[in-house]
Amino acid sequence: KTENIVMILNQLVEKTQFLAEDKHICLITHISEEVIEVSVEKQRILQALYNLLINALHYTNQGGYVKLHVDRVYRQDRQNEYVRIMIEDNGTGIPEEDLPLIFNRFYRADHSRARPSGGTGLGLAIAQQNIFVHHGWIEVHSEVEKGTTFSVFLPALPVVRE
Ligand code: ATP
Ligand code: MG
Repeated sequence: KTENIVMILNQLVEKTQFLAEDKHICLITHISEEVIEVSVEKQRILQALYNLLINALHYTNQGGYVKLHVDRVYRQDRQNEYVRIMIEDNGTGIPEEDLPLIFNRFYRADHSRARPSGGTGLGLAIAQQNIFVHHGWIEVHSEVEKGTTFSVFLPALPVVRE
């Protein structure tokens, strides 16, 4: 189904705004005013982005920020245009040796296992699965004690001008 990713992101912000406020984390959004269409199952995309955003809020200390950004990018390597949704935080970061493992089911890095707050380690596995079924993928860049950026890529639909 054709959905406007901007609407999905606005819904996501609505769902998480209060959590950010509770934790005194600034949720900064750079969401376009324009319509950006994607062909997706809305609930699955919402679930994937929610898992990523909850992680960003969870693994960032109070006083930090989480930025949500969306744009269209041309990927030379795939010769195709994609909608890119970036979720950036200035939280704990992820050690380099953990990066290849975080999408595995039930994997939780030491720093999070040590935390009292539960978590099953399924959040990223589900997010990745939901993006894969839409022919997209997730990239992650992270630096310990600096922060993490997850980028979600979804195939873009051609822009229709009326
Ligand atoms: P849950 O099933 O409740 O989501 P979880 O958050 O531990 O549990 P995932 O969401 O799959 O599981 O994340 C896996 C691991 O990746 C986390 O335990 C954490 O170590 C690391 N991680 C994920 N996102 C971030 C982030 N934004 N900043 C730092 N570490 C992260
Ligand atoms: Mg999680």
